Amino acid sequence: MAQNKTAFVLSAHSADFVWRAGGAIALHQKKGYAVTVVCLSYGERGESAKLWKQEGCTLERVKTERRKEAEAAARALNVHDIQFFDLGDYPLEIDREAKFRLVDVIRKVQPAFLMSHSHYDPYNTDHSHATRLLMECRMIAQAWGHNPGQKVLGAPQLYLYEPHQTEQMGWKPDVFLDITEVWDNKRAAIECMAGQEHLWDYYTNLAQNRGNHFRRNSGGQAGGRNARYAEGFQSVYPRTVDEL
Ligand SMILES: [Zn+2]
Repeated sequence: MAQNKTAFVLSAHSADFVWRAGGAIALHQKKGYAVTVVCLSYGERGESAKLWKQEGCTLERVKTERRKEAEAAARALNVHDIQFFDLGDYPLEIDREAKFRLVDVIRKVQPAFLMSHSHYDPYNTDHSHATRLLMECRMIAQAWGHNPGQKVLGAPQLYLYEPHQTEQMGWKPDVFLDITEVWDNKRAAIECMAGQEHLWDYYTNLAQNRGNHFRRNSGGQAGGRNARYAEGFQSVYPRTVDEL
């Protein structure tokens, strides 16, 4: 078991972390990491169509419902800490104050790795804004001249989790993570997203397909591990290693 290890996951909207990184979160919690999730918005305007179709719906009600769903999903994944910045969505707009707020969280957490959306998303610019923000905040958190005296950030890897239509996003995985042992947690978290039931089976199928890719790349056909569910990630920075 890792001791005092931490990880940080950024989610533009309150459900994104569930579909895309729920397995990684639950798995690392199980391995002894404390995972912090920051949701920049609730996806209240852009990713809550089912709620808006109810009569008399208000923005505040949608935000409350989305927050409840995300908190329930976080419990299913055993998330250590989930924070909601409530910056608004469609469009997600990030000012200097929000950047420094995020830097404060990252410096406090001192994560072993970071996770966020793909670099590019022509359907949803909030997603790519979130990743640009995280790369900027990673840089600021590393700067000795920012709030001198605080512990600066090292150089944690940034893993881009899987977007909805991978080919359209220019996203190409270079890591597959076996999430079979925590799949039940991820499925339970997925089912907390009552407003997006149309995605439940889609992301179950995706995890099974990535499980196939895990086996393909790990020698599974030759008697390797029988990973049934996996998540794919694209890493942003080079790794520094002693052996290949
Ligand atoms: Zn989203």
